[in-house]
Amino acid sequence: MTTSIRRYVETDTGHRVPNHKSKCSHMHGHRYRFEAEIEGDVVDFEGASEEGMIIDFSDVSTILKEHIHDIIDHAFVIYERDDLLVNLFKQLPENHRIVIVPFIPTAENLAKWAFEQVKPHLKTTYGNNLKLVAMHVRETPKSWACWKE
Ligand SMILES: [Zn+2]
Repeated sequence: MTTSIRRYVETDTGHRVPNHKSKCSHMHGHRYRFEAEIEGDVVDFEGASEEGMIIDFSDVSTILKEHIHDIIDHAFVIYERDDLLVNLFKQLPENHRIVIVPFIPTAENLAKWAFEQVKPHLKTTYGNNLKLVAMHVRETPKSWACWKE
């Protein structure tokens, strides 16, 4: 038996899927939701701030904000081999927010990216087997992807 929690952050992020047979090859954006699923043992250390929790939701929120939101919110994510966009965005001023990644920015690949962004920062001092189980990514209200280790 395990206990798990979920916490999400949302971003407004642009992308395109360069080889897509239809409309996803156009530049566009989504209101993404990155939802971390975390499991662990409930902290039973009497008097601890986290007593009765597996981790404080606000600590998860801080990690999601710093390592996902603050990197790709109001930014355009570009596949490094998408020559058309890489060259196009080179024309823009330095302070324009683009994030070049080594993968095609589909929801599936962004789920894996987000998982790797969050995992190293999830720490506990209670030895309660805290573990990032999955990163769920909502691209549209009907479309979700998930990365699990
Ligand atoms: Zn899209």
